[in-house]
Amino acid sequence: MDNTIKRAEARFIVLQFSYMKKITPLVVGNWKLNPGTAAEARVLARGVTKLAKRSGEAASIIIAPPVLFVPEIATVLSKSTVSLAVQDIHYEERGACTGAISASLLLPYHVTHSIVGHSERRALGETDVQVQKKVLALLKRRLVPIVCIGERERDAQGNFYSFIENQLRSLASGLTAAQIQKVIIAYEPIWAIGTGVTPTAEDVKEMQLFIMSVCTKLYDRKIAEKIRLIYGGSVKAHNAAELYAQSGMTGFLVGGASLDSTEFGAIVAAVS
Ligand code: PEP
Repeated sequence: MDNTIKRAEARFIVLQFSYMKKITPLVVGNWKLNPGTAAEARVLARGVTKLAKRSGEAASIIIAPPVLFVPEIATVLSKSTVSLAVQDIHYEERGACTGAISASLLLPYHVTHSIVGHSERRALGETDVQVQKKVLALLKRRLVPIVCIGERERDAQGNFYSFIENQLRSLASGLTAAQIQKVIIAYEPIWAIGTGVTPTAEDVKEMQLFIMSVCTKLYDRKIAEKIRLIYGGSVKAHNAAELYAQSGMTGFLVGGASLDSTEFGAIVAAVS
C-alpha cells in the first residue's frame, strides 16, 4: 500500500479515536405510554437515579416519561444527574392546538430534551415539515431535539439510503450550521423498533458513516462531526456492548428495555 494512503488512514483512525474518546456515551430511555401509574413512574425513575449514581460520569442518561408524569419525575430527578425529556411537543406555543404541549410549558420542570419525529408519531401523520418546525421551536427555548429518522424496511438495492438522505435534507433545509450542531439524531430503523430484531453492528456503522457523509455534504465535515448520532431499535442488555463498540454511534435510544431499571442499567453499564 502506498505510504501516503497508509499515513492518511492512520491519521483518520487517530482522529476518529480522539473524537470518540471525547464523547460521553448517551443513553435515552423512551418510556412511551408507560408505566400505568404515577407511583410506578416514581419507582422506575428512582431506579434510574440509582443506576446513574453507580455509572457516575461514565454515561449521560436521559429519561422521557409520559408528559403527565413530568412534574413528579422532575422532583425525583432533582438531585441526580439524570436529565428529563418529553416524547413530543407542538411547535406552536399558544393557541388552537387541542391536546398539545409546547416547549415553553416544560421550562419550569427542567426538561432539557424532547424526542421529535418518532416513527410512532410519524405513523399518526407527522411530516418532515412538522418535524423541522418542532426542532426550531425546541431550539428557540434552548431544549435539545432528539430527532428520529429511519427507514420502514431495507431493500436489496439500498434505496433506503435515499430515504434517510431525504429525511436529513428536509431537516437541514431549515437549520443553520449553528442549529444542526445542537440536534441529536437518533437512527431508528422502524423494522427494529419493538421487534427484537436489530441490524448488525456493521450495518449500523455503515449508516453512521452514511449520515456523516450526508451531513458533510449539507454543511461541512467539521459540522458533521459535531452532530451527535445515536442508535435505537431493540437495544437490550445482551446486544448493547457490541452495538456500541462497533457501530460508531455514541449512544442509544431505548424503548422497551428502559422500563426495567436493571436491564436499562445493564445497557448503561455496557456503554460506560
Ligand atoms: C423506540 O421506541 O424508540 C425504541 C427504540 O423502542 P425499542 O427499544 O423497544 O425497540
